[in-house]
Amino acid sequence: MRQRDPPAASVSLVGEMDRHTAIGTLWRTEDGRVRCVACGHRCLIAAGRRGICKVRFNDAGQLRVPFGYVAGGLASDPVEKKPFFHVYPGSDALTFGMLGCDFHCPYCQNWVTSQALREPAFLSPLVEATPEQIVRAAQRQGARLVVSSYNEPLITAEWAAAIFRQATQAGLACAFVSNGNTTTEALDFLQPRLAAYKIDLKGFDSQRYRKLGGTLDMVTAGIRAVRERGIWLEVVTLLVPGFNDSDAELRAMTQFLVSVSPDIPWHVTAFHPDYKMTGFPATTARQLIHAAEIGSEAGLRFVYAGNLPGRVGPWENTFCPQCRAALIERAGYRVREYRITAAGQCPNCQTAIPGLWLPGGAAGARLGGPARELSPRLPGRVPLRQP
Ligand code: SF4
Repeated sequence: MRQRDPPAASVSLVGEMDRHTAIGTLWRTEDGRVRCVACGHRCLIAAGRRGICKVRFNDAGQLRVPFGYVAGGLASDPVEKKPFFHVYPGSDALTFGMLGCDFHCPYCQNWVTSQALREPAFLSPLVEATPEQIVRAAQRQGARLVVSSYNEPLITAEWAAAIFRQATQAGLACAFVSNGNTTTEALDFLQPRLAAYKIDLKGFDSQRYRKLGGTLDMVTAGIRAVRERGIWLEVVTLLVPGFNDSDAELRAMTQFLVSVSPDIPWHVTAFHPDYKMTGFPATTARQLIHAAEIGSEAGLRFVYAGNLPGRVGPWENTFCPQCRAALIERAGYRVREYRITAAGQCPNCQTAIPGLWLPGGAAGARLGGPARELSPRLPGRVPLRQP
């Protein structure tokens, strides 16, 4: 593994990225051009041109796609940080990312990696890697999951699939943290190795979604498709005061989720001013709780308020939807109590609780959370090679 110096200019960054590519899988030839089908934009790309994400390009009639590096750090985080609350609670998730995104949200909290090609002054160095190195790093860290996050994983799906292939052979579960702008082709390609999928539902207003670079229809279709395929799905909404937090919008959003399934866990998380939206106020605990109450009233059975640990009352915990027994108690990313049985049931009334649970039940739970959870996410924080 060799860490390269950050390039001095965007031209250098593009050249560096283009050197770390391979012929992709998610494309076809159409009218003498290349049709990329990795994300909902379905770019038709002429020779020598790039897709909207800027990281996939037509090289003499073949689509080259990012491959063989990580950016923004390789981190071993609690799975609760993704956030997944119904996926092996208390486990570590070895998380990797690349560069680029097919959206351009002005409040992105991973903009250093996702918007690297649109913000050349702020660079995140590439670190060459192989799938084997990443999986070995996950094993050394004792991770149960390997997760593609930090940038939009759909645009780098072939690289994720190569890592997931090795990871599943090693007995690890694999997951995506995505904007949900997916396609049938991408899900067909990923599904054999994808255990869980988190989708960021950024609001419920079509016009505003277009300003972020996507469409509400594509994302809602992505949510339906992931759920219908039986991939474990959780949805998160970053609540930005004055942007997406009206009662009407939250009601419409949560009613939509209920129409797909009331068992989809919905995380409403606190915004802090970032990137290009520094003029908006941070979300208060009261605003988060109000949004969570709207989701619960709409009929969602598992609603969580995140990013303000210890300040949102019961909204960090999981309760049995039948008898209301507390099943998982959390403080931020830490699991303090775990009572779901090995069969995935409430120990009190035996109601089946939807999710991917610890095979050993409460006896297999690691309480207190991983020691690394509050460490800053720095490039290469988890080394690819054993020192
Ligand atoms: S991943 Fe999406 S944005 Fe990028 S080239 Fe493919 S269709 Fe276009």
